[in-house]
Amino acid sequence: MLKPGDAIGILGGGQLARMLALAAAPLGLDIHIFCPEPDSPAFRVAAGHVIASYSDEKALAEFAAQVSVVTYEFENVPAATAAFLAQRVPVLPGPRALAITQDRLSEKNFINEIGLATPGYLPVDDADMLVEAVAALGRPSVLKTRRMGYDGKGQAMIRPGTDLAEAWQSIGRQPAILEAFVPFEREISVLVARGQDGTVAAFDVCENVHRHHILASTLVPAALGPAASHVAIEHAARIATRLDYVGVLAVELFVGTDGSLLVNEIAPRVHNTGHWTLEACACSQFEQHIRAVAGWPLGASHRHADAVMENIIGAEADAWQALAKTGALNLYGKKQARPGRKMGHITRLKGQKGNKP
Ligand code: AMP
Repeated sequence: MLKPGDAIGILGGGQLARMLALAAAPLGLDIHIFCPEPDSPAFRVAAGHVIASYSDEKALAEFAAQVSVVTYEFENVPAATAAFLAQRVPVLPGPRALAITQDRLSEKNFINEIGLATPGYLPVDDADMLVEAVAALGRPSVLKTRRMGYDGKGQAMIRPGTDLAEAWQSIGRQPAILEAFVPFEREISVLVARGQDGTVAAFDVCENVHRHHILASTLVPAALGPAASHVAIEHAARIATRLDYVGVLAVELFVGTDGSLLVNEIAPRVHNTGHWTLEACACSQFEQHIRAVAGWPLGASHRHADAVMENIIGAEADAWQALAKTGALNLYGKKQARPGRKMGHITRLKGQKGNKP
């Protein structure tokens, strides 16, 4: 168990690491960031940072010597980096969670193995396998790279008339899966925290709206009956337990028109669809993650207000003065507002009039 004054290392220096660092401060824990990009958003709120490549073993060894545990803000941490660090200091969530969730095929296999449903899928390793998979799953369907896909990158919709050779080319001819298209009613997510003693604390189910493959807004509570909400939370808790997980984990699900729940994706980290917990819950997803990796008891994750979180994307951040009047504004300190880049978010609690909950 970490003591106040001890340090936690985070791989990655984006907004998630920044918000983790801000949550660690009131607990008396220091944060050190390891990130290859200079000027990362988390650097300005952390006790220390290292700018180096994830393959730089000298820099990784120095980083490991400064901290009592290492965690991460993104699931594509190279396996060799995690293994190198794990020889020196605990890495949480553990290597198994990382290995399974880095690869869409092993992730979907795992979800089905523990008895939960996913959209239908087939592995695709070459152009011929794509032709066979489309024949089996039909059109529309979605071609997704097994690794490194996010915000719609590494994906191609296979519609009636889509040329399969072109689709294969468009995702870079790399190992992939084909997924049956789900005509979903809504997209939801569940965030759960699991402590080192195996205790699980779930946040309420929330509902997500994506625009151009990027999360636009999250609404809580989701428009879902209590029975379905209970099942969704049980699914997430089962995933965390069966991964022997420590930390916060996000599970994204599709709700079918018949009310069925299909698991779309697992993120082994704090998640954009959990930002509302900062204002609407006793203990936020960020504090829960810090508590879990520090070996502390989890906090209370109950929700005390309904909330809507909206992402602030690209040039939308120029309107920060107007935005600051209407909700709890969280800007990430990014210098350049590129199109599609997440610059901040704003959360409004139900009944909130001004800029404070
Ligand atoms: P993903 O990267 O797998 O989370 O996919 C990004 C978004 O694409 C999802 O949030 C959905 O809006 C959409 N999408 C992905 N897979 C499917 C599917 N099998 N059926 C319908 N929509 C999908």
